[in-house]
Amino acid sequence: MSAKNIPNRIILPESQVPQQWYNLRADMRTKPAPFLNPGTGEPMRAEELYPVFCEELVRQEMDDDTAFIDIPGEILDYYRTYRPAPLHRAYQLEKALGTPAKIYYKFEGNNTSGSHKLNSAIAQAYYAKQQGLRGITTETGAGQWGTALAMACTHFDLPLIVYMVKGSFTQKPYRRSVIQTFGARIVPSPSDTTDAGRGILEKMPDTSGSLGCAISEAVEKAVTTEGYRYVLGSVLNQVLLHQSVIGLEAKAAMESVDEYPDVVVGCAGGGSNLGGLIAPFMQDKLTGKANPRVVAVEPASCPSFTRGRFAYDFCDTAKITPMAKMYTLGSGFIPRANHAGGLRYHGMSPILSQLYHDGLMEAISCEQTKVFEAAALFSKAEGILPAPESAHAIRGAIDEALLCKESGEAKTILFGLTGTGYFDMSAYEQYLSGTMTDEIPTDEELRAFEA
Ligand SMILES: *Cc1c(COP(=O)(O)O)cnc(C)c1O
Repeated sequence: MSAKNIPNRIILPESQVPQQWYNLRADMRTKPAPFLNPGTGEPMRAEELYPVFCEELVRQEMDDDTAFIDIPGEILDYYRTYRPAPLHRAYQLEKALGTPAKIYYKFEGNNTSGSHKLNSAIAQAYYAKQQGLRGITTETGAGQWGTALAMACTHFDLPLIVYMVKGSFTQKPYRRSVIQTFGARIVPSPSDTTDAGRGILEKMPDTSGSLGCAISEAVEKAVTTEGYRYVLGSVLNQVLLHQSVIGLEAKAAMESVDEYPDVVVGCAGGGSNLGGLIAPFMQDKLTGKANPRVVAVEPASCPSFTRGRFAYDFCDTAKITPMAKMYTLGSGFIPRANHAGGLRYHGMSPILSQLYHDGLMEAISCEQTKVFEAAALFSKAEGILPAPESAHAIRGAIDEALLCKESGEAKTILFGLTGTGYFDMSAYEQYLSGTMTDEIPTDEELRAFEA
């Protein structure tokens, strides 16, 4: 097919929403390491996780073998209200860059949560409802996950308590209102509603909170409230499983125009969108069918892949969660106050961590002014205002395309545009006014947080 026949947006019909999630672990030779019980140092058994997570989600979490898992009908019905998500050919961006590269992006911002997070939120809320739970708890940082889960919980009529990082709670009042509009209860974290929160407040009364701290509170609240469980929007194997719809659709859409990526680029916070986007391409790599490059892009201010250690660590600040083997900066790590680009989590998905460790994917880190420069360029060219998180992937893709310009190679680049940035305008303001800085942590600072 000649290039000019490829439309600007490739939107598969509703009937092509994937009917099954793809579980990448089934094809990995080295499986991600299991969670450890921090008390005994032994791998967690399913029964030990049941007080925290829904039972079906624990089964998905621990299932390293089933390659394809049927998506229940009620989840599919919901997926069909906003999926398949479009795959865009970035003609305008290509032109602006003057690159011979062909750039595609999978856009996940076409729902009110403004991100891919709804793909897992609706699944997790469904399984919680199926189990007959009275409610669930979670944390949210930038607010997309809280919004997505509030949407999902209201759909299934399930009460939700969201521990929202205090900094976001005060800086993003409209994000808060959106979550409340969908009927969820929000508690700014750290709070006095949990031992973990009270402990942190005692030590740091003025803290603006962190994701790790909000996780501690949400987990504690869930295990101490009858009929409640905790859900998490990233990092976990089950979340990457649900997010595989991104990659499955992207691959099918590319195949529909006889395209296949030479390189797949995604931003990496906890790793869920990237894990989902790359899933079927990594399957091709693992099974020897194709060999695309896979590149994770993370902030220089929170560089878990590129400067972290591959080790067992806690998933939260108060050290009450099981331990996961992952690339981590240490569970106490909090990015510096100047950091505005999201992707603030100290750890990384155990699946992606293992793939990275095994040399199956690459990672780079970017300074935030470069990330916002890419966001501004992309907005002007393509007419979509990206989330700062997504702009990391844009930066990575643009840099690949600029290399093609130098070498004259017409590579095919696919990246994940995970969401929109309407609630992040104070960060854009900083960039536009020239007050954004690029201070990044020193080696000494990072060593101080090591587990
Ligand atoms: C949460 C979020 C991310 C980062 O999370 P991952 O789990 O790494 O995908 C990226 N982009 C957007 C828009 C998000 O909301």
